[in-house]
Amino acid sequence: MKNYGSVALLERLMFGLQRLAAVGRAEAWQRDQALGLTPTQAEILALLQRRKGAGLTLSSVAEELCISMPTASDAVTTLVRKGLVTKVASVTDRRAMALRLSARGRVMARKVGGPPPVLASAVASLGVDEQAGMLRGLVGVIRALDATSAAPLARMCVVCEHFEPHRYSGADRPHHCTYLMSPVGPLDLQLDCPAHVRGTALHRDQVWAAFMKKTPIVQARSKRRNPC
Ligand code: SF4
Repeated sequence: MKNYGSVALLERLMFGLQRLAAVGRAEAWQRDQALGLTPTQAEILALLQRRKGAGLTLSSVAEELCISMPTASDAVTTLVRKGLVTKVASVTDRRAMALRLSARGRVMARKVGGPPPVLASAVASLGVDEQAGMLRGLVGVIRALDATSAAPLARMCVVCEHFEPHRYSGADRPHHCTYLMSPVGPLDLQLDCPAHVRGTALHRDQVWAAFMKKTPIVQARSKRRNPC
């Protein structure tokens, strides 16, 4: 009799995630190749597009994409030679150069920045509740990874200084973003937000506790001070 316990479940979940990643990678590879790009070059263009002109240093690019500095450097050198990326003085680090998309780079980034169509259409075929459940699961996994040094720092709501979980108890969009000054619903949770500001470790813990308990963060704080 096959063991359908927790280990088997974990293995099935890992298989599913790896299967999705493989399909997405294969699709992206075909698209990138047709555009004359390697997958790493395409990922760098898409990353610079998501940061919306903020300009990233080479080390930030390597860190965010989980690639080595030499790999990032080779890919950026090629992108600069192709006229898709420019280097300008960084405003945050005088010793470093910031990478920005050129006008041609922005056009190319729009072509490679979207989700792989076949995988996207499979996810879109799910109902809204299933998509919300999937997003919620991804938020939990990425947050757990964020607490390790094995993954780049997440730029998502549940670790953001601007996020107030369950401020509007019982509402369809119960959370609040103090940057957007707007309610945030289960389908609005961001995974890579350009406006993200990382909260302190204490704030991140309080936000996650409140998010899980479905209580406002103020209530979570007061409960922590007075557990009775
Ligand atoms: S700034 Fe972005 S990541 Fe932060 S709470 Fe608002 S939407 Fe979420």
